Amino acid sequence: MRPLRRQMHIVFQDPYSSLNPRMTVGEIVGGPLVHHRIGSRRDARKRVAEMLERVGLRADLQDRYPHSLSGGQRQRIAIARALVLGPTLLVADEPISALDASVQASMLNLLVDLQREMQFACLFITHDLSAAQFLADRIAVMYLGQIVETGTREAIFAAPRHPYTQSLLSAVLIPDPVIQRQRGRFVLTGDPPSPLAPPAGCRFHTRCPIAVERCRTEPPELLEPAGGTHFARCHLVGPNGEPPLLPGLAEPAGVA
Ligand code: SF4
Repeated sequence: MRPLRRQMHIVFQDPYSSLNPRMTVGEIVGGPLVHHRIGSRRDARKRVAEMLERVGLRADLQDRYPHSLSGGQRQRIAIARALVLGPTLLVADEPISALDASVQASMLNLLVDLQREMQFACLFITHDLSAAQFLADRIAVMYLGQIVETGTREAIFAAPRHPYTQSLLSAVLIPDPVIQRQRGRFVLTGDPPSPLAPPAGCRFHTRCPIAVERCRTEPPELLEPAGGTHFARCHLVGPNGEPPLLPGLAEPAGVA
């Protein structure tokens, strides 16, 4: 697994608990180089300094400890640590949710710039729809541990097919009150069941307002009836990918 692990790194949600407070910034960012026995100690310091500058920090932060840094700076250090080996895959697990709103946008821009420069694939996990819309080429929507819809960003935001995706997007407010009134709104009720004992049939049927008898017994497959790249897990998607309509919505609740 060691050569494979070199190719995959992760940035965790909380920059306050994902950095060891007893290690200096240099030791944290250089940790993967030491672990994979890459270069000498002097090379590691140079590489760490380059990496810090690449994520928008001063190279002389190397000798500081995480407690003296802000949340945004800590998350940049976590990103530097994840990218110091030049991985091909970065998993970013809600990397902006613990940060102030003022820092979130700069962190998203940083990720986009780094991805363009370093050419890695990024699996960005988020609850923030606007972050997904800003960053993603492809989106997979999950409910209760299962992908219920996947497609390009444009397809998901303009014409969502699964009722869960539609309910998520209908909750996004549109700044124009006329359009907002016209499109209607669907509010999902109830709480998600326990993922340890998911419901039989479609996992969403306990909250789906248009569930039919078949939904309670037969699990839907992730299908693309139109033969394209937009897949949804719902029995009621039409033969050409037509989405089912939720009550209260004038049309499937896209926001694009
Ligand atoms: S399969 Fe049935 S319960 Fe599941 S999302 Fe579609 S309509 Fe709703």
